[in-house]
Amino acid sequence: MTNKIAPYPVPTICDYCGSPVIFTSNADIYGKEFGSGKCYKCTGCDCFVGVHDGTEIPLGRLADKELRGLKKKCHTLFDPIWKDNKYINREQAYGSLANVINIPADKCHFGWFDKDMLLRCLKIMGDKKWYVGVNWK
Ligand SMILES: [Zn+2]
Repeated sequence: MTNKIAPYPVPTICDYCGSPVIFTSNADIYGKEFGSGKCYKCTGCDCFVGVHDGTEIPLGRLADKELRGLKKKCHTLFDPIWKDNKYINREQAYGSLANVINIPADKCHFGWFDKDMLLRCLKIMGDKKWYVGVNWK
C-alpha cells in the first residue's frame, strides 16, 4: 500500500458562495482540533475540507454539508472492502472502483468527487458485490 499523498489544488474561493477560503484550525468547526488539526474553510458559508496530516494539502474539494454526507456514505460502503477483507487491499479496491467508473486510479478519491460522481459511486456500491471479478489494474 502506498502512502503517497495525491496533490489537490488549494481552494481560494468557495465554489458554493464565492467567498474567500482561509487555512485555519479545524477547532473552528469541531470545537477542538481534530485529526490533522487544520482545514480550509469558507469565510461565507459552512463549507470546508480537511488536509492530509502534517501538510497543507487539501483532502479534496471544498464540501458543503450535503457533499460531506455523501462522502461519508461512500466511505461507509467502501472502506470495509479493503479494511475487513484480507484478499483486497486499498490500492486494489480503489483500482477496481476506478475501472468501474472509468477514470484513472490516481484520480479516484471520494474527496475529489463532485455530487454527481458520489451519487454514481453510491449507486454502484449499493450492490455489495460490485467489485467481484473487476480488474483493479
Ligand atoms: Zn462558501
